[in-house]
Amino acid sequence: MVYIALGSNLGDREENLKNAYDHIIGSEKIQPGKFSRFYETVPVGGPPQPMFLNAVLEMQTSMEPHQLLEELQRIELLMGRIRGEKWGPRIIDLDILLFGDRIVEDDTLKIPHPFMHERMFVLEPLVEIAPHMVHPVLKKKILQMYQELKNLNQQGLQK
Ligand code: ADP
Ligand code: MG
Repeated sequence: MVYIALGSNLGDREENLKNAYDHIIGSEKIQPGKFSRFYETVPVGGPPQPMFLNAVLEMQTSMEPHQLLEELQRIELLMGRIRGEKWGPRIIDLDILLFGDRIVEDDTLKIPHPFMHERMFVLEPLVEIAPHMVHPVLKKKILQMYQELKNLNQQGLQK
């Protein structure tokens, strides 16, 4: 199974996530699986900016990882995403989180997504739809990664 993170913090965020979903599943090379509910999250990194709406989509695809990245970037562009500041606000952000147990690490593509285990806005929707999926590098289930990050955040708050 392949997992994609969707995020938006500009314009009609819910509409943006739904439009992105429609574009993604419109591809004949993609068979959609579960789609998480939408989570409102606080922006991590970058300049001060509006809250995000995040979701995760499960799919199967006959595409190779780089082809899928191209397809997602095509959708970002056609939805009007302008590449501005790193980690700045965006109409839509589509990231590949996991591609089965494939590991990809080059200049344009890193799978598993390098920050996924540190980001609640990824793990929360992902644990909803794929708690037993195993991270191929960390060799941990998503559920365990989610619980560990939650504990870490709670310890942080108690300090
Ligand atoms: P970010 O998602 O980090 O906020 P961008 O969406 O602007 O930033 O992506 C920057 C670059 O990240 C893309 O041009 C792409 O080549 C690269 N990238 C590396 N790994 C991934 C991945 N797993 N999913 C999506 N993009 C990735
Ligand atoms: Mg991105």
